[in-house]
This record gives sequence, structure tokens and C-alpha cells, in this order.
Amino acid sequence: MANQQRTRLIEQMLDYYDLDTEVIFLPSIPRLLNNINRSKRIRNTEGSITYAEYLFDNDVIYLNESAVNSNRQFILTVLHEIDHAIEADERSAEQFEQEYFNETATTGYYNNIYEIQAERFAEQNYNFWSEKLKRL
Ligand SMILES: [Zn+2]
Repeated sequence: MANQQRTRLIEQMLDYYDLDTEVIFLPSIPRLLNNINRSKRIRNTEGSITYAEYLFDNDVIYLNESAVNSNRQFILTVLHEIDHAIEADERSAEQFEQEYFNETATTGYYNNIYEIQAERFAEQNYNFWSEKLKRL
């Protein structure tokens, strides 16, 4: 459901957070992404569902459209990935990539401070963007 409202909301988010990140809607996260080196990406996964992936190297967010049915899930997922993009933007992507994967290696995915921070960021900014979406 890459409807116009969602596309416009993403444009507003990227402007608001001053990011050049590219956001690509996919009907599902395809197998071809599995060929990308695991160390080059962040998966936003719950159980067997991958909601989105963020690729450090080219600063791209892939959104799994079929997984983000509700507007709530859509907004939370995009905000989560945007937080990763902000982190990558504030340092070099290479530096963030290294810090991120060091963190995962030591504490695991769910205790990774960048994952906790991204979830918090998404929750804290959800209402703001939810209101904006209603007005698009
Ligand atoms: Zn994440």
C-alpha cells in the first residue's frame, strides 16, 4: 500500500530530519536482499517477519509493504529506520556500522543500544507523525 499519503509522509520525514536517505517500498523483502553481506545491513525483524532493512553503504531503507499493513506499524517502522539513518548521518556510515555491529556482537540484537534507541525514537515521535498522516 504505497499510497500517496504514505509516500508524502516519508518525504516530509526525510525533510524534517534532513536526510538524503532513499526509501524503497517492496511488496515483500525479496530473496535478492539475502545476497547482500549480512554485515552491511540492519534488519528490523520480529519472529519470521522482516519489516524493513537499512543498508549502510548506500543509505537505503527497504520497507516490506506487506508487513506494514496498519498505519501505526508503517509509521513506527519508518521512524525506527530513520533513527538508524540519523545515527549513520551524524558519524560516517562506516563508523556507525562498526559501532552497531560491535554492540550486537556484545549484547545481541534486542539489547543493542541502537535498537533500543530506535524503538524509543519511534514511540516518542509516533503521535506527531500520526497526526500529520491524518492531514495528508
Ligand atoms: Zn533497527
